[in-house]
Amino acid sequence: MKLYNTLTRKKEEFKSIKNKEVGLYTCGPTVYNYAHLGNLRTYIFEDILKRVLEYNNYKVCHVMNITDVGHLTSDEDEGEDKMEKGASREGKTAQEIAEFFTDAFKLDMKYLNIKEPTIWAKVTDNIPEQIDLIKVLEEKGVTYKISDGIYFDTSKFSDYNKLSHLDLNSLKEGARVEKNIEKRNATDFALWKFSEVPGERQQEWESPWGIGFPGWAIECSAICLKYLKNQDIHCGGIDHINVHHTNEIAQSETATGKKFFNYWMHGDFLNITGGKKMAKSDDNFLTLENALIRKNINPLVYRFAALQTHYRKPMEYSGESIRNAENGLMNLANKVRNLKYKVDNLKNYKISDEYKKIFLSTVNDDLNIPQALAVVQEVLKSDLSKGDKLVTILDFDKVLGLNLDEQKDKKLPKDIIALIAKRKIARNEKDWSLADKLRDEIQEKGYIVEDGEKMVVYKS
Ligand code: AMP
Ligand code: ZN
Repeated sequence: MKLYNTLTRKKEEFKSIKNKEVGLYTCGPTVYNYAHLGNLRTYIFEDILKRVLEYNNYKVCHVMNITDVGHLTSDEDEGEDKMEKGASREGKTAQEIAEFFTDAFKLDMKYLNIKEPTIWAKVTDNIPEQIDLIKVLEEKGVTYKISDGIYFDTSKFSDYNKLSHLDLNSLKEGARVEKNIEKRNATDFALWKFSEVPGERQQEWESPWGIGFPGWAIECSAICLKYLKNQDIHCGGIDHINVHHTNEIAQSETATGKKFFNYWMHGDFLNITGGKKMAKSDDNFLTLENALIRKNINPLVYRFAALQTHYRKPMEYSGESIRNAENGLMNLANKVRNLKYKVDNLKNYKISDEYKKIFLSTVNDDLNIPQALAVVQEVLKSDLSKGDKLVTILDFDKVLGLNLDEQKDKKLPKDIIALIAKRKIARNEKDWSLADKLRDEIQEKGYIVEDGEKMVVYKS
């Protein structure tokens, strides 16, 4: 199985640390608002990765954090605190906000058929672990204190740019990046931030350095080191490469002296109108609820839309792309349903070795899901028996996660239902010419009628 590793900027043969087991970490949501469709694209990509690993018979231990504290509105450890801001916006406590949006996020995952992680790790449940990790860094002499917190001195970690591949000198010279004048280096980042006025914030903790709250990257390092024995793959969106993941590597590898994750994988953005990234801070923010569910569109349509673009390419969102995906998923589900009507007992059929081999090599080529969807179409067009086609496609759906076995008939329009009823009467009365005429009429309106033990009608 080949995966593209951001560390080496190459597709590499995947080798797990322990035979047939994978430790997978995915950076989770900051629960101060709903997840938008862009965030959800990243979680769909990570779900596909996990399903492909499982399809290759790996046992995956998947950890996802829930950021229910901090972090600040910029990568430079500046700005307002997102959780505190969300709480004051809604007139609730930070904990109430976190619980509400965690539940909303889990519901989105269910709608999109994204498998839950093996372990959910809330940041507020892991504060002592973060403090302990900062203590280790302090003992190693890589931290320093300034007026607003304890910082990591990135000049003490020689491989600081190994993930970002950025030229550190140009970064140091870029004075505009350096917002905090007390910092020794532009790239230094907060491990612990002090409460400006202790007692004013809702979320603050005692620490050896004073009352405050953890910096952003320290949570993921502490949670990974606590829960994942084997640090195989770490994922997130591409916006995490240069700062968040770079900082996770610097502090974790300094603390342990060992490599922190062998593979780093990043999903590209969902963009909206003219290549602009969908972001929580912008008014282009679309949720699953307002873009699909409220419009009575099956949320799996969004999953289907996301699967059509390779995870390392930008995806464009538009109403039209959703309508196309809706038709595409409906057609595919109808074809599968049609096979189901004609097949008695699935146990009598066999997954096609030939097509499984093609499908496996496709998904194992750095998760080439758009091509894997084309393999599904090839199976449908092949000369396999209906039963073999069905069991083969349902097997592929373990990776695709489109619930092809359970898709319900979308209601047919009223005029089509009326024509079907008339045609049933004609057939009962053995008026074959009228039945044929009505079939043509239905077809002219864009629906296909197939007679069998049970009559099936679907959109062409
Ligand atoms: P956040 O809740 O902001 O920490 O983001 C959750 C995940 O969504 C992270 O992995 C981000 O990298 C990712 N993300 C943020 N914006 C987008 C976007 N427009 N398209 C795809 N992924 C995104
Ligand atoms: Zn993270």
